Amino acid sequence: MSGPLAGLPVVGERRLAARVTPDALRRIRGGHPWVYDRSVETVSHEAAPGDLAVVFDRNGKFAAIGLWDPGSPIRIKVLHAGSPTTIDPAWFAARISEAADRRAALWAGEPRDDIAYRCINGENDGLPGLIVDIYAGVAVVKLYSEAWFPHLAAVIEGVGAVASSGDVVLRLARNVQECETFGLADGDVLFGDPPDPVLFTESGLQFEADVRRGQKTGHFLDQRVNRRLVGTMSAGRSVLDVFSSTGGFSVHAAAGGARSVHAVDQSAPAIEVAERNMAYNAHLEAVATCAFTTQCADAFDALGGLGRSGSRFDIVVIDPPSFARRADSVGRAKAAYAKLTRLAMGVVESGGVLVQASCSSRVTSDEFFDTVTAAAVEHGGRLTEIRRTAHDIDHPVTFPEGAYLKAGFWRVDPGRRARRGG
Ligand code: SAH
Repeated sequence: MSGPLAGLPVVGERRLAARVTPDALRRIRGGHPWVYDRSVETVSHEAAPGDLAVVFDRNGKFAAIGLWDPGSPIRIKVLHAGSPTTIDPAWFAARISEAADRRAALWAGEPRDDIAYRCINGENDGLPGLIVDIYAGVAVVKLYSEAWFPHLAAVIEGVGAVASSGDVVLRLARNVQECETFGLADGDVLFGDPPDPVLFTESGLQFEADVRRGQKTGHFLDQRVNRRLVGTMSAGRSVLDVFSSTGGFSVHAAAGGARSVHAVDQSAPAIEVAERNMAYNAHLEAVATCAFTTQCADAFDALGGLGRSGSRFDIVVIDPPSFARRADSVGRAKAAYAKLTRLAMGVVESGGVLVQASCSSRVTSDEFFDTVTAAAVEHGGRLTEIRRTAHDIDHPVTFPEGAYLKAGFWRVDPGRRARRGG
């Protein structure tokens, strides 16, 4: 092998044989993709990250095969369970091609080469710890585990068959950047010469993505449906887009006829991109006539400040980052969601709409919706649910931990405090 992948390790010849606890075996057979370190009882030998590990049952029968990940608490990342199979480049290519087929409805009405979509959604597409997003034909391969390095060439070959441009950018999650990366770095262009930034369309609107340096892979593809919905309810409205990142909600609101849009994010580069994303769409009269303002600030401070200064908005979108990366931070995450709801109640017009989302997989959907509605009541207001949404079809969910995104749309009714005040 030559080129940027020349230094990659090869998959160990010898498969590791593992025995796991009865409980872990049951979970694997039920389709769960993770085997924790504490569930691994015995292994045949020491193996390198990404070597193939075969899980046998009590009778010595094949149960599953996965990637061995000695540096991770998720010690075996299951690729396949059931009857024995061979994991080779053809196997990866088949999984990637199936995943691409599952997304066909996304480009039914749009030219496929313009749009951006998630082609591989990790474990939910049978490839734990691997994300592939495609932006106007440019493939962005993001590794969340070092166990993927020995299989990277096979993955890229498979991706090449479904992405049109031949351009491939590598992204490494923070934990992977700290491992041996075999001469590769986050943001490396592995193949081709992708434009920088990459231009793509979402629901017919023009956006750019900084696929080499941007957050995630350059754009939060998972909010596509919610952004479109906000667009459809924005005509003549004033919209506040909190945690705006690169302005996805803002641009859809403006194109949907919003009178004004105010975007808030603490990331200056993200705000700059939001401004450019708005400008790309200025040929649309609705966008050209929308008063768009941005604010680079902490969202909590900004919401408090807007409330105190008497600013009110017809639609308030609150789309924060994950607040619960660890199991013990669920309580704090819920408190942060409640605080955001209370702050939002202070800036939303009576009869306006609150859109609030959570991307913390550890906070369940019910917990999130209960937290938001309780916080509104506590503030003296009342929320009437208009709609709940989850993942779009390019973010399939096939195991409980995969269901991270939930969003609610509520009509905000005048609360005690608002009535007293007015
Ligand atoms: N709504 C966006 C995605 C938001 S992702 C979209 O549709 O594309 C979460 C964003 O929150 C990131 O852009 C991050 O920069 C921002 N962020 C994180 N903590 C913040 C804080 N305390 N105040 C303001 N922005 C914050």
